[in-house]
Amino acid sequence: MLPTRILLDLDDVCNRFTMYALKQVGYPVDPLGYRDFNPEWGWDIVSAANTLHPSRQFTPAEFWDSIDRDVWATVPESAEFKTLLRRCEALVGSENVCILTSPTLDSDCLAGKLAWIHNHFPKRMHRQFLIGPRKHFCARPDALLIDDGDRNVEAFRAHGGQAILVPRPWNSLHYMPTETHLHDAFTMFFRMKEHAGVT
Ligand SMILES: [Mg+2]
Repeated sequence: MLPTRILLDLDDVCNRFTMYALKQVGYPVDPLGYRDFNPEWGWDIVSAANTLHPSRQFTPAEFWDSIDRDVWATVPESAEFKTLLRRCEALVGSENVCILTSPTLDSDCLAGKLAWIHNHFPKRMHRQFLIGPRKHFCARPDALLIDDGDRNVEAFRAHGGQAILVPRPWNSLHYMPTETHLHDAFTMFFRMKEHAGVT
């Protein structure tokens, strides 16, 4: 089915949260690339941090406490962000694209994410966001989730939605070039749209 609405993940889809956060808490990683993240670490930034620096061990609470509001607010955009937003708006219309982002337990995270949205998205999107950890509540057959988390994508599909998994080193598409995957996925949807328009 052709999607009529898109739910767009923020962290590590629109921005470079993971690598930037690791850099901000003191690890010598390249915040603008992914070469320092070993795919074997999987979806666990805290164990990635602890592996990078075995002499400095964080509990999950300590790790998330160390990411303050400014860090959330100043994460650089991902390489894909501008093109991805343009494609989303072209496919379903700007008014049908909604940011969908899961917060940590720390209120600094919520405030920082709102600042990020205001600083990076065009004004027309400033009231188009949902914040919540249960992304699958937004699933329906014509809804498309774009997310870098395998679990989010699986749950969304299991509840009847469509999803694109954005390849990153911590997910099951880590071997895939990100832009190629996004290009191919959107090409398929644009073809569907074109076909729907002529029949
Ligand atoms: Mg994400």
